[in-house]
Amino acid sequence: MAIERTLAIIKPDAVGRGLAGDILKHIHEAKFKIVAIKSLRLTKAEAEGFYAVHRERPFFKDLTEFMTSGKLIVMALECENAIARWRDTMGATDPAKAAHGTIRKTFGTSIQNNCTHGSDAAETARAEIGYFFSGMELV
Ligand code: ATP
Ligand code: MG
Repeated sequence: MAIERTLAIIKPDAVGRGLAGDILKHIHEAKFKIVAIKSLRLTKAEAEGFYAVHRERPFFKDLTEFMTSGKLIVMALECENAIARWRDTMGATDPAKAAHGTIRKTFGTSIQNNCTHGSDAAETARAEIGYFFSGMELV
């Protein structure tokens, strides 16, 4: 299995509730390497750009407002099979349907306020990492 990188975000609901440390602990316990990490707040246009694939979805406006409501912590995570492993560590999109012990099951409060983001495929991981980090930050 190949070493991969994926984009992880600790979303504003989790940062605002002081859960960043708990979520980082899950990341360390799952043995991801944090290649790059930073905290930032998105503008509306930046959030709309990030979630452009969802622009026709009924939840797009709420989602982009939510993602601009406070600081995010964004990370490039690396390990074998990182994309699938990070999605397994997060759990299902809807915290109510997520497996026991996952981040979303433990900390998520709704399908929108589900605490974390993860890339869903190799191509989106590359694009999403490049959206937030320059080449020099990923050395
Ligand atoms: P993410 O892309 O954030 O890792 P995901 O891939 O599990 O999550 P997507 O279908 O890509 O889920 O949806 C992106 C985000 O939009 C979700 O994480 C959630 O915050 C929000 N979302 C998804 N579905 C709904 C919904 N039905 N109602 C409200 N918000 C939703
Ligand atoms: Mg997604």
